[in-house]
Amino acid sequence: MTDDLHPKRLFGKVVVVTGAAGGQGAAEAEALTREGARVIATDVVEAPGCRRLDVTRENDWAKLAADLNEAYGQVHGLVNNAGITWRARLDDVRPADMARVHAVNVTGPLLGIQYLAPLMRPGASIVNVGSAAALTAHYPVAYTASKWALRGLSKTAAMELGPRGIRVNTVLPGFIETEMTASAAPAFREANLRETPLGRTGTVDEVAPLVVFLLSDEASFVTGAEIPVDGGLTVHGGMKSLSDAVRAGS
Ligand code: NAD
Repeated sequence: MTDDLHPKRLFGKVVVVTGAAGGQGAAEAEALTREGARVIATDVVEAPGCRRLDVTRENDWAKLAADLNEAYGQVHGLVNNAGITWRARLDDVRPADMARVHAVNVTGPLLGIQYLAPLMRPGASIVNVGSAAALTAHYPVAYTASKWALRGLSKTAAMELGPRGIRVNTVLPGFIETEMTASAAPAFREANLRETPLGRTGTVDEVAPLVVFLLSDEASFVTGAEIPVDGGLTVHGGMKSLSDAVRAGS
């Protein structure tokens, strides 16, 4: 549907969002709905308007795919947003922590792609939510390793699904105000502010529009891209403190 003043960029598209009970996922589901998408919001926790789906459970994905096939015959979009962190450092992290975080942050998106891509036609779009931690070293090693792995999965999926006209892109948020960052140490927040050229944290409403764009036909030639939404956190490779120190001393 287009009305000339407010064309809906995702009108009629069926889009699945994982981890949509709160935080970025809820904002993405809302923004996609505003643009006319038929959003299937999902989460492992119960929440109004959310279908229960644990991204690590193959049965949940199989059931969702069967239901969507019956209801719509196809899926136009998937946002692999669900994610968890675990803040153990290198000396303390346990193999079980590595496995648990990997299951949600990497195997979850893989299962989503495996079960929903068969319902996708040319023009469909997948967005994986990575992290600035996937571009740099970052002390929560299970989380960091999982988000680097997700980049590998995204690149491979972009290559493998491209010939079927399915695009796969990754967004890399920096410090965004959600429950995940609310549980971080105050020192972590302060250090982030110091290292972020824009000098502030981001909001969920600053990530959602990029997800909308990547799902829309406006991004029809964009695939395999990795786009930071981080206020410049990852742009300077640690040079901001040097730059600030020289400025302060001159
Ligand atoms: P959040 O904790 O507010 O939301 C994460 C959601 O994922 C929750 O609703 C949770 O219930 C859901 N979830 C957890 N395990 C799940 C599972 N097994 N199956 C289905 N859903 C599950 O965090 P957020 O900040 O909104 O995070 C969204 C995504 O953004 C995550 O992938 C996260 O790693 C990433 N990210 C966040 C930040 C940030 O600063 N907040 C930065 C970089 C990347």
